[in-house]
Amino acid sequence: TKNKCEEAKLLPKYGKIKNVIGVISGKGGVGKSTVTGILATKLAKKGYKVGVLDADITGPSMPRFFGINNKRAAMYPAGDGNEVKFEPVTTKLGIKVNSLNLLTEQEDEPVIWRGPVITGVLNQMYRDTMWEELDYLLIDMPPGTGDVALTVMQTMPVTGMVIVSTPQNMVSMIVKKVVTMAEKLNINLLGVVENMAYVVCGKCGEKTRIFSKKSGEEHAKYLNIPLLAEMPVDLDLVENMESGNAEEYIGDNKNYDELVENMLEQY
Ligand code: ADP
Repeated sequence: TKNKCEEAKLLPKYGKIKNVIGVISGKGGVGKSTVTGILATKLAKKGYKVGVLDADITGPSMPRFFGINNKRAAMYPAGDGNEVKFEPVTTKLGIKVNSLNLLTEQEDEPVIWRGPVITGVLNQMYRDTMWEELDYLLIDMPPGTGDVALTVMQTMPVTGMVIVSTPQNMVSMIVKKVVTMAEKLNINLLGVVENMAYVVCGKCGEKTRIFSKKSGEEHAKYLNIPLLAEMPVDLDLVENMESGNAEEYIGDNKNYDELVENMLEQY
């Protein structure tokens, strides 16, 4: 029998993708891109062939995460019309990344497009990138329940979706809306990551929850989906991301294993 990726309407032209995982949040700034990067890195470390499609079109941050923001994805003519194909940028661990920020001339150039154009470009980036063979394609989705999120959930063969939130937003209606949207569209919700849930004392190692006294488990119960991980505020992670060394840092850090192991278990 065929899986969801094989029977999808939107098939990649230059490759074959086994699993498509969307990463989404209720609002911006909660660590959705960071979690996408961590999952991609850990999956690559485990030996899987991994790609990342940055679908957060107006706030693309995956190139910066991987320290490839000064590189450019090459575009080649394809077919007879004005079609093109994209050559993704490959990270140190071999993760293939495509993002609008790798296609525009400068990374601080804004995209001033309306919804239908954005969704068209996104479908094109999914279909026309030279992904070759991938075990996992991770899609960093824009936050919320807007146009682009709907496009990803409806036209791309999403085999699983991960929700990211911070403790104070876990019980907000905006995250619940995302969960409900995914459920209505029959998306396989793998679970929620509670990011920036606690700080670790530099002297004694004690964990102190911040933003909310309720546990991640309680929050996940409210959302009625599994809790994949509670992640600390990690300033070493921030520093390594800023210097383009996130892959090395995460790859060797056992604290981030739980997230990917729990996600794979939910599959
Ligand atoms: P989103 O994709 O949801 O907009 P990002 O992943 O870009 O969020 O993260 C927003 C900001 O928070 C970034 O500056 C990132 O470095 C920081 N951040 C995310 N997760 C953590 C964490 N666990 N510890 C410390 N800083 C974090």
